[in-house]
Amino acid sequence: MSESQPLRLFDTYERRVRPFEPLEPGKAGIYCCGPTVYNFAHIGNLRTYVFEDLLRRTLTLNGYDVNLVMNITDVGHLTSDADTGEDKMALSARRTGLTAWELAERYTEAFKSDLTALNISPPTIWCKATDHIREQLDFIQDLENKGFTYRTSDGIYFDSRKLNSYGYLARLNIEGLQEGARVDSERRFVTDFALWKFSPKDEQREMEWESPWGIGFPGWHIECSAMAAKYLGDYFDIHCGGEDHIPIHHSNEIAQTEASRGTRLANFWMHGYFLQLNEAKMSKSTGDFLRLATLSEKGFSAMSYRYFCLSAHYRTQMSFSWESLEANNVALGRLYQAAYGWGEPTAVDADFYDRFLGFVNDDLNLPRALALSWDLVKSDLEDGCKKATLLAFDQVFGLDIAKWEPAVLEIPEHISKLADERQTAREDKNWQLADEIRDELLSRGYEVEDTRDGPRINKT
Ligand code: AMP
Ligand code: ZN
Repeated sequence: MSESQPLRLFDTYERRVRPFEPLEPGKAGIYCCGPTVYNFAHIGNLRTYVFEDLLRRTLTLNGYDVNLVMNITDVGHLTSDADTGEDKMALSARRTGLTAWELAERYTEAFKSDLTALNISPPTIWCKATDHIREQLDFIQDLENKGFTYRTSDGIYFDSRKLNSYGYLARLNIEGLQEGARVDSERRFVTDFALWKFSPKDEQREMEWESPWGIGFPGWHIECSAMAAKYLGDYFDIHCGGEDHIPIHHSNEIAQTEASRGTRLANFWMHGYFLQLNEAKMSKSTGDFLRLATLSEKGFSAMSYRYFCLSAHYRTQMSFSWESLEANNVALGRLYQAAYGWGEPTAVDADFYDRFLGFVNDDLNLPRALALSWDLVKSDLEDGCKKATLLAFDQVFGLDIAKWEPAVLEIPEHISKLADERQTAREDKNWQLADEIRDELLSRGYEVEDTRDGPRINKT
């Protein structure tokens, strides 16, 4: 842990940057809301997971032993945040003809391989909502025992007005909501939310369970309160997610845990801001989205996308454009080339490293840290030292700089044969033939460079 530049993080709950002080010395417990696996993750979702990975790496760099828990939402996330509409999994299952279980497996695997491609380390613990129905039922039972629930014809709801602090995270104006509230269902208040939904009558659902209140399935928010409590305890260091979670999902997680356990779940609440496509939020449910695979089809590696994410602070919204991705791709290529050319690493430069730590410990200021890498490239430090220093930065960047190598050019046999013939012509001082063969190679898209080590073939 750096004493001169202690880690400071922005806490949405307190709306300020403050020093990170672990609840248990040397340890950091993090819960990240994982994907709803009814479709592929889009690059917007992935921006949030890159941010969480940067947080985790920064904590590790500061010497913390990180325990990161991530859930997989495979039931209970409804198409409307007002707890109406269909379960996203069930809807997608109907559209694709697969079972909800098959869908969940397919998209969970796809999500994990996106994380691997982006060099995002897997969480210490993965947990699936459907594997934790018991824990969720116990949690709801406890809320009922404490008087925070009521029943309607379609489920068991959380009575948000019973909790004075409800909505503090999002600074919700409850009185304002009260005035504008329309009573159009059995829900008593607009901010009340489902803890348990009953299966529709006379309809067998693929995903449903017995409960003390009737057959049904859990609401979306209860899974995170229940699984976080199981794996990290009632109060842990950091809870993360995308900015859209502030007013609903995270407000409701906090409400459940506060009502049941008397804590606000996490010491720090951190949120990654959205990636926008064409000025609108990228939406997994409308299908209007780009995947990592879409970028790869256009020749952009996952690492270029990671670099693109590092170029903006996690607390600013970012617009996606192909031009910007291309510019970042070129920059990353230059960084790789430079580092490759520096050869073997020697010793880390203390001054640069200190400045780097200052930036990442200042609420993960990765854009400044990236800019510092370019100062390093331009500096007059000796190559081995530059290399060692950049590799030290890469512990947080996660760009796999040490592994990068120039692509080996595959030369077709007929081309290398032509190049050999040209070389023989040169040795015979048959310059005319040598020039003709050079032109022939050029017309086929190859050029020969005569180096001290002999001729080298490149693509034009
Ligand atoms: P979901 O799979 O919809 O539950 O979302 C997974 C994660 O991605 C959550 O943390 C969301 O807050 C986050 N997210 C959703 N859309 C975007 C976006 N356009 N940009 C950044 N993060 C997003
Ligand atoms: Zn969650």
